[in-house]
Amino acid sequence: MPADQLIRRTKIVATLGPAWDSIERMHALFDAGVNIVRINASHGSSTVREEWIRRIQDVRQARALPTGILVDLHGPRIRVGKLPEPLTLTPGQSVIFAPEATAQEGDIPTTYPELAGDVVLGSRILLDDGLLAVDVTAVRGDRVEGRVRYGGLLKANKGMNLPGVDVSAPAVTDTDREEVLRVIALGVEYIGVSFVRRAEDIEGLRAIVPKTVRLIAKIEKDTAVNNLNGILEASDGVMVARGDLGVELPFEQVPLVQKRIISRANRHGKPVITATQMLESMITNPRPTRAEASDVANAILDGTDAVMLSAETAVGSYGLEAVLAMDRIAREVEAQRLRPPEGERRRWSLPAPHVARTEAGATPTEDAIAVAVSAASELMQAAAIVCFTSSGFTARTVSSYRPKVPILALTSEPETYHQLGLVWGVVPVLMPHLNNYDPMWQVARTELLARGLAREGSRVVVTCGVPFDMPGTTNLLKVETV
Ligand code: ATP
Ligand code: MG
Ligand code: MG
Repeated sequence: MPADQLIRRTKIVATLGPAWDSIERMHALFDAGVNIVRINASHGSSTVREEWIRRIQDVRQARALPTGILVDLHGPRIRVGKLPEPLTLTPGQSVIFAPEATAQEGDIPTTYPELAGDVVLGSRILLDDGLLAVDVTAVRGDRVEGRVRYGGLLKANKGMNLPGVDVSAPAVTDTDREEVLRVIALGVEYIGVSFVRRAEDIEGLRAIVPKTVRLIAKIEKDTAVNNLNGILEASDGVMVARGDLGVELPFEQVPLVQKRIISRANRHGKPVITATQMLESMITNPRPTRAEASDVANAILDGTDAVMLSAETAVGSYGLEAVLAMDRIAREVEAQRLRPPEGERRRWSLPAPHVARTEAGATPTEDAIAVAVSAASELMQAAAIVCFTSSGFTARTVSSYRPKVPILALTSEPETYHQLGLVWGVVPVLMPHLNNYDPMWQVARTELLARGLAREGSRVVVTCGVPFDMPGTTNLLKVETV
């Protein structure tokens, strides 16, 4: 395999579920190449989640792998309550929604006691990412009567959406805050914030988490799409949460909205995850449909940092196969895309419309260096980019210009090391804290050789900030020969 194909640039996020309850299975998930493990706080108990978090931390430590943990918050999500067993809904059937506390046998319990106050005759209630639909025929007290429009099997805990209804709950609920405090004490790197509407939703949470914890805004409401720039400024990354997005918006709008979110995130230098139903049929089948393979490939071509698996790994029969399928698709797309363009002699010319600028029109130092590093590595056909980073900012900025060679990011901060697992093209390395360039370069050189990313005599482009202990000082570009 050519050296640069050893590294998959696109990252894979996999959601845990009951299927990953043994340490052996967890090792298998790491073997398959997962970069970020996601745990959905909407399901299961906090005891189980704590066990999972500790287990991932043990496995990643034992294997010396940069694997960040993402805990996704429940948010102001309306859900179906507990059901003794799944209900079969048939079109035309009459059903009743009732608050969990007062639901009777045969009712559909809901976790949202105000449902009856928010819907009116004719409202449509969507269930399980919009797979099932019920039209409201009457509201009596706290009970909502309806007729099934689209039927199917309804399982406990599935999401409910009320398109066009502005649900009054705050973006971060009290339950979410408790969850956040619990998981940051355990040491997770990413928190996924559900149903974000505006930047303030992220800022509110920021106040209660340490600076090292990264907040991912899940874009799944039309309000969030409209406030995208503000949300991107306030957050550390975004997720194109297509499950709810495709219910809150007409589904035909999802493909272009996905492209818009990804390109804006790229422009802000923030990582972006494309999520939901990417390989949905693999919940029950060992191979993806052609449409699914195309979906994964297209998200990569759109510029996503990471592709995500939800139910495919959480409850699917072919979770490992799903990870391996994503890995294959990503490598194939990247092998084509990263090949140098034939006959093209220059790629960086001025003016450079896709380079970050301040309001006054100047490009910030980090971006100018990142562009120069990307350009130099491509022009020189360097083997790799080496980047010394403490908060990860330098590595993220270089990655956002999508250079063709792997970015070896060396840090002495364990949080940064695991967080960078999410970022496109970055190979994180944990190194001891050193104060001088020469020993730092020696660590990088050893890692490049050990990982097959460079040979003796290869040229690499190094970037870092001097002095070393000041974050936000990226100002140096150096060419080294390994
Ligand atoms: P969200 O809107 O937060 O994405 P979701 O219900 O769609 O919620 P996902 O995390 O997307 O949940 O996972 C898809 C499905 O996988 C869930 O609907 C659920 O059936 C299953 N699942 C996820 N996590 C767990 C878990 N911890 N335990 C059991 N089942 C799970
Ligand atoms: Mg989902
Ligand atoms: Mg969701």
